Amino acid sequence: MHTFEFIRPADQAGAIATAAQSKTAQQGADVRFLGGGTTLIDLMKLNVETPARLVDINRLPLGKIEETRDGGLQIGATVRNSDLAYHEQVQRDYSVLSQAILQGASAQIRNMATTAGNLLQRTRCVYFRDTAMACNKREPGSGCPAITGHNRTLAILGASEHCIATNPSDMCVALAALEASVHIQGAKGSREVAFGDFHLLPGDTPHRETVLEPGDLITHVMLPPPIAGSKQVYLKLRDRASYEFALASAAVVLTIVSGKITRARIALGGVGTKPWRSPEAEAALTGNPANEGTFRQAADAALRHAKPQTENKFKIELAKRCVMHSLRMATTS
Ligand code: SF4
Repeated sequence: MHTFEFIRPADQAGAIATAAQSKTAQQGADVRFLGGGTTLIDLMKLNVETPARLVDINRLPLGKIEETRDGGLQIGATVRNSDLAYHEQVQRDYSVLSQAILQGASAQIRNMATTAGNLLQRTRCVYFRDTAMACNKREPGSGCPAITGHNRTLAILGASEHCIATNPSDMCVALAALEASVHIQGAKGSREVAFGDFHLLPGDTPHRETVLEPGDLITHVMLPPPIAGSKQVYLKLRDRASYEFALASAAVVLTIVSGKITRARIALGGVGTKPWRSPEAEAALTGNPANEGTFRQAADAALRHAKPQTENKFKIELAKRCVMHSLRMATTS
């Protein structure tokens, strides 16, 4: 591990000013915010992340969950994943979020990991985590050995010829289905980014994973007011029952009136290079009866543009079954 300077700023402005001195907010950043550290410290030990300065944001007032005037929910950047998953209002009104968090990582990690940190989780691609290997995401222009190598767990949606890494988050899949927004305070002011726009596709710049610029601090995530009577399910399929990343997952938020789906939001995990909202599946569901035929059409629509790699063709059928079963669960819950 490289040596680094540890900074504990007195306030938000100090944290942002320090981070704004970094050349980039992406891979290779020389200043990083420290929340729970469950990804960052891991990657620093592997020398994948080598920041010269760590800015500890844990003492900043970013750790609250508060109801907003319009009935939505404001979730502070440093709210721990466990506190969020077990929050009464989240369990009642946004249960897909609670389900997703509790199916991720281990209890110990969830007790440390933060809301903002979860948004910034890095891929589990084995080449990315091994500095002896080439990797366009870690070292732009060096190549992508995963395309012809070990890619069983990697992406079938949103990949490019430069990177096929999967986004590993469960929580983000639920946030995509809930149409959350990300609130950012930066050196030039504050802004709100729709959740679907926060993560970037790899394209020819896979080292750029989000819209964040140097100095940008995620202050909170907002959830819109809950949809009364919605059915919510997060289903995760993986190689073992716990402490494992998704091979395929689905977050479903459905409104059903007299047997007909009147509103559908659906997002997939474990298969995309970013948390994968599927407007195609939503369109296939909306206005149609909640039955097997409709669910099959939605699953086919969600995976229509899937492009498998050498080892992960099985994910197409797995993801379709995941979508269909999560819809069945939502309908019968
Ligand atoms: Fe690196 Fe992406 Fe290729 Fe993995 S898939 S080796 S993260 S460029």
